[in-house]
Parts: sequence; structure tokens; C-alpha cells
Amino acid sequence: MIKKLTNQDLKALLKELRQEFLVIAPFKVKQGRLMKVLYQPVKNDEQLSSIYLTDQPDASPKEYFLPRDDKLGEETAGADCEPADWQDQPRIFLGVRSCDIAGIELFDDVFIENDYIDPFYQQRRENSIIIGYSCSEKADNSFCQEVGVNPVDNDNVPLMLYQKEEGFFLKINDEDKLKEMGILEKIENLADGTDEDLEALINERQEAFKEDDFTIKSELPFPEKEAFSSVNWEEVTASCLGCGVCTFYCPTCFCFKFFWEDVEKNRAWDSCMFSLFTEHASGHNPRESQEQRWRQRLMHKFSYHPKNYQGEPGCVGCGRCVSKCPVNLDIRKVIAHFENSIVGEGVKGNEG
Ligand code: SF4
Ligand code: SF4
Repeated sequence: MIKKLTNQDLKALLKELRQEFLVIAPFKVKQGRLMKVLYQPVKNDEQLSSIYLTDQPDASPKEYFLPRDDKLGEETAGADCEPADWQDQPRIFLGVRSCDIAGIELFDDVFIENDYIDPFYQQRRENSIIIGYSCSEKADNSFCQEVGVNPVDNDNVPLMLYQKEEGFFLKINDEDKLKEMGILEKIENLADGTDEDLEALINERQEAFKEDDFTIKSELPFPEKEAFSSVNWEEVTASCLGCGVCTFYCPTCFCFKFFWEDVEKNRAWDSCMFSLFTEHASGHNPRESQEQRWRQRLMHKFSYHPKNYQGEPGCVGCGRCVSKCPVNLDIRKVIAHFENSIVGEGVKGNEG
């Protein structure tokens, strides 16, 4: 089902949804001296006019599912911490782009769809509805299509929003879920759009994404033995400061550590780019250099994750690690260097 909305219709719909849901959307926010686009809860109806959908948000919404600092509760001997019953309003995330949707799907694979279920993640995920957003142009440094993400269209979220010159199309992908959450009845009376009109918009956008100067030539998973024996990682990663910014902004990086405050157990983001990440209590560190940490980061995304999760890459090509790195270390160049070392042939467009 396709619906057609004016800007006013969208605002009215969000206003209605706010009665029952916490709506979380991208806003321009001042952080220190910088303006950033970040997901924030909508606090009042007036703020609906300031939602900013034009550019890719600086950070994905991952911290709403895996908070950077999460109090898990009091730990008792022999029992895992369990989340308290969900007390907050259920949440709607507006304007989530395909790369970040793929990031959340990767988290689902890791935290709820395999042997171990993380009850804290599961609770947040089950209480969230995602409204996707179709990209109209390529974000800086992104290469999403190279890792199988379609930036323009997405059927994996219950609702998908496509901004036009005037107004929006809204595609309903999962009527059952929307009915269950009481959202379908709020949408049904909006004006109908046509499949043909939406398809024309999608095709036009897809043209804009055809040109890309970066390609990944190797099949996944990247070969592990050669990564250790044939690649000079220092040559391409020597400038890395080990600051971890790339991993904190990455929508697919999920490494964390536990720490205790008295009996209270906490979980906080950690990073494979930190030297302490692998340091043993004995003082021995199996990844003692920064280039070894870089090798781990690249191989986790393009070798170990695909091996463990049915060939799926552990990178969604959002480009944030490139945009945010203080020394301009570019994962596309590291991939090209890896490929050149392994197959001995140049990767067009990736050098320089
Ligand atoms: S952001 Fe750049 S400098 Fe910092 S750890 Fe990542 S690659 Fe290294
Ligand atoms: S590795 Fe870089 S490009 Fe890939 S998902 Fe993470 S931040 Fe985005």
C-alpha cells in the first residue's frame, strides 16, 4: 500500500503518533563548536517543524538499542541481570536510512537471532518501530551498494518514507506489525499514491547512485591466511591514532565491556582500536601494535563476520568512519591495499 502525504500531513501524523509513542528523529544539534545531525526524542509538537531529513545523520541510532553506557542492574551470584519491565513509551524512529537499517539488522543477528539472546537489546528492539527514509543522493564517503545495501528502497522496515519535491510517499511494508502497534488505523485514511509513481521516483534515484568510483573486487569472506602473511598493514594504517572514533560512529560495531559500581553491573562501548582492548592481566597483549588492531577491524567486518553470519558483511558502507577519522584514514584505501597485496592487481579508483 502506498500513501501520499503533504508536509502538513506528515506533521499531523507524527503529532498523532506522539500521543502513544516516543518519536525519535534526526535534528541539527550544536555539540561544542560543531553542528551535528543526531537522533533525538521529539519533546513537543513545535519541534516537529525542525526535524532534519536532508543529510545523513552524523551518528546512527545504535545508541538507542545498545546505549554507550548501560546500567544493567544489581548482579546476584549465579544469575544474569534481567531488564526491568519496559516502563517507557514504545518508540518510533523516523528517517532511518538503509545503511542504518542494515546496521540494526546486523545487531539483530548478533543479539537476538542466534544462540544467545540479549534481553536488554531484545526489549529495546521489540518496543521500536522504524520508519525508513530513501536517500536521494550519496552521502559523503559512502559505499553502501558495494556491500549490498540499497540506499533508495527498503522492504525490511514496516514503513518507508520517500521525500519528493513536494511532500512524501509512504510505503507500507508490514501491515500486520502496524496493526498490532495501532499505527495502521492512523495511516489508512491518507490519500493513496500509486505503485507507478513511486517506482518512477525510485528508478530516477537509482540512476543517481549508479556512478561509484570504489569497488570491492574480492569475494567475502576475505582470506584470513593471506591477511596475516601477505599484507603490510603498517604501510596503510601507520597514521592511526587508536582513538576509536571510527568504531564509535560505526553502526555495526558492537564491542562492549562490563564494569561494576559496587554490585551494579554496567555495560559500556569498547573498541578493538584501543590497545587495552586485548591486554591480558599478565600484561601480554596479543595485538600489540595499531596495525594489528586495524587488521582485526577490517577482517572482522569482511572475513569473520561473513563467516559467522551466512556471508553477510560486517560493514554497511555508511562512510562515517572515513568522514570522522581525525587523520583521514580511509577504509576504502585499506580494502584496496589489502586486495592489491592479495591478488596483485590495482583496484581502479581507490588509490591516491
Ligand atoms: S578514527 Fe582514525 S585514527 Fe581513530 S582509531 Fe579509527 S582509524 Fe585510527
Ligand atoms: S566500517 Fe565504516 S563504512 Fe563500514 S559500517 Fe562501519 S562506519 Fe560505516
